[in-house]
Amino acid sequence: MNHPANLLRINLDSGRTNIDPTPQALLRRFMGGKGLAAHYLYQENPPGCDALSPDNLLAIMNGPLTGAPVTNGVNFSVCAKSPLTGTWNDSHCNGWWGPELRYAGYMGLIMGGRSQSPVYINIIDERVEILDATDLWGMDTFAVQAKLKARHSIDRKARVLTIGPAGERMAKLAGVFAENRTAARGGLGAIMGSKYLKAVVVTGHGNYEPADPVNFRSVRARIHEKVRKSSGVANLRKMGTAELVESVNETGGWSMRNYTTGRDDGLCERLDGIAIKDTLWDGGARRRPCPGCAIQCSHLAVVQKGKYRGLVHDGPEFESITLLGSNCGIDDPAVVTAAEHLCDRYGLDSMSTGSTIAFLMECYERGLIRKEDTGGLELAFGNSDALIEVIHMMGKGEGPLAFAAHGTRDTAQVIGQGSVDFAMNVKGLEIPAYLPQTAKGQALAYAVSDRGACHLRPWTYGKEVLGRGGRFDPMVTAGKGKMVWEGQQRNAIYDSVGICKFFTYAAGLDELHELYTAVTGFDMDRHEFDLAGRRIAVLTRAFNNREGFDRSHDTLPARVTTQGVRPVTDAELDAMLDEYYDAAGFTEEGLVPESLLVELGISPGKIGS
Ligand code: SF4
Repeated sequence: MNHPANLLRINLDSGRTNIDPTPQALLRRFMGGKGLAAHYLYQENPPGCDALSPDNLLAIMNGPLTGAPVTNGVNFSVCAKSPLTGTWNDSHCNGWWGPELRYAGYMGLIMGGRSQSPVYINIIDERVEILDATDLWGMDTFAVQAKLKARHSIDRKARVLTIGPAGERMAKLAGVFAENRTAARGGLGAIMGSKYLKAVVVTGHGNYEPADPVNFRSVRARIHEKVRKSSGVANLRKMGTAELVESVNETGGWSMRNYTTGRDDGLCERLDGIAIKDTLWDGGARRRPCPGCAIQCSHLAVVQKGKYRGLVHDGPEFESITLLGSNCGIDDPAVVTAAEHLCDRYGLDSMSTGSTIAFLMECYERGLIRKEDTGGLELAFGNSDALIEVIHMMGKGEGPLAFAAHGTRDTAQVIGQGSVDFAMNVKGLEIPAYLPQTAKGQALAYAVSDRGACHLRPWTYGKEVLGRGGRFDPMVTAGKGKMVWEGQQRNAIYDSVGICKFFTYAAGLDELHELYTAVTGFDMDRHEFDLAGRRIAVLTRAFNNREGFDRSHDTLPARVTTQGVRPVTDAELDAMLDEYYDAAGFTEEGLVPESLLVELGISPGKIGS
C-alpha cells in the first residue's frame, strides 16, 4: 500500500506531538475513518471517563478514499465518547479539510489532554505547531475560518476546522465545522472546547497516488458513467436534499410540531425542493460542491426578499428544513435558512437544535413553561422570531433558555412535569426527520444505533417506505432486526473508507470494494471487505457495552411507543430487538460476547471499572 497512513498524535497537556505510521494490519482490519478511530479509542480511552475530561481522546480520521480523485472521495470522521449521550460517537464531514489532511501526509489525528489556555493547531505537511488562540476565543465559526485562512494561506489555501462559541462553552449540542460543512452530531464541538482547542488548520503539498492506478481509473470511469445516467442523482443535483421533502411528506413520515404528525400538503408546498429552489437558489446558478464531486448536491441559498434578504448560506438541507422548519411549525424557507445559518455560525448542531426548540414550543403550548420563563417570548409553534431568538440564547449562552443548548434530555430534566415523555431523543441524541411510527425498521435503527437516534445507520425508511433499494412493508416487524443489522455493517464500511454517503445514489458496495482495493493495494476479497464492516459495527457496540449500555438503553421515547396512528409498541420493539441481537450475535441483554470479539480478532480493550 503506498498511500500515506501516518497518524499524528498530539498531547495538549504537554504540547508534545509525534507522527507514527499506522500498521498495515490495522488498516486492513479497521479500514480508516470510524473503524480506525474506534480501534484506537477502544484500546486507549479510559473506560467510563467523563467525556469532557482531558482523558477522552478526540480522533479526526480520514479513510483511504479521502482526497482520492473520484466522486465523493471527501469524507472524514470526527470521533470520541459523546458528552451528549455517553456513547461512542462518530460524526462525518465532507468538503475540503479531509483531503487537505491527506495531502499533508496523514490518515488522522488523535488528541488527548487539555491545554492551559486557548490554542489552535497548524499543520503544514510534517510541520506541526500549537499556537495561541486567545484572539480567536469567542469568535464564531465563519469569522475564525476567514481569519485563519488569511493568516495561513501562503502558497495554497489553508483549510480550517473549528468550533464556535457553543463549543467553547461545552454546550452538548456543539458541533465541529469545516469549510461550510459540519460534523455536527453528538456534541463533539464541546470536546474541542473542553480541551481549549479552537481550531485545526491544515495545508498539504502532497498528491494522492492510488496503489493501482490502472484499476482505479477503470472503476472510476464506470462509477462516473453511473452518476451521469442516474435519475436520482439528477434530482439531488437539481434540488439538493430538499428533494426528499415531498416524498417523505406524501408517505406520512415528515415530522411536524415536535413529531406529532407526518403529513401536511400545504406546509410541504411551502418548504419542498421546488419552493426552496424557486425562492432561494438564485436560479440555481450558485453551487459549492465538494472537490471532485460529480454528484454535486450542494447549493448556495441567497435569500431573495424579506427580513433576511441578501443572506448567503450553504443549504438548507432536508434535516434542517424539517427540524428547524416543519417540526417547529415554520413554513418560510428564508427563516429556515436564517436559522440553519445561525446554528452554523454559533457552532450548534442544527438538527438537535431544531428538535430541542420544537420540544420547548410544545412545553410552552402545554403551559409547562410560560412567558416569564422564556424572556417574554411567545414560544408557540410557527413563531419565526421566537425560533431565531432561542437559537441566539443557545448559541451565546445567554438568556433564560440558554440551557437548552444541552439538548432535549437535559432540558426535560429542568422543565420536569412529565415532559420527558415527549423529549424526542434516544440515549440523548435527538431523533432525525423521519417519524419513527411510520417505519418499524427505522424506529429500531433509532433505538440501536451506536450514537443514539441516527437515520444513517441505517436509513431503512428508503427501503421500507420510499421504495428505494427494495420493497418491504413498513408496518411489519419480522425481518427488521436483520435488516438493521445488515445496514449497520454496510454503513460502518461507508463511514470508514472516506466516501460521502451520497455515493449510494449512483453506486454501491460492489464498486466501493473495487475502489478500496485499487487505492489501498490490499488483495482483499469481498468477504474480507464485508467482514471489516461487521468488525467495526461490533466494536462500537462493545465500546458502548463497556460504558454501561445494554438492552435497557435500546429504547424509544414514550411518544413513539404509545402515540401516533401506529405506535411502535413495547412488544413490537422487544420482538425486533430479539431478532436484531440474534442476527448480530449479541446476547439477549444486548451485550457483545467475548467469543465474538475473539472470532473477529478484536483485541480486548482497557478493562472498565
Ligand atoms: S454529494 Fe454533496 S456532500 Fe457529497 S461530496 Fe458531493 S457535494 Fe459533497
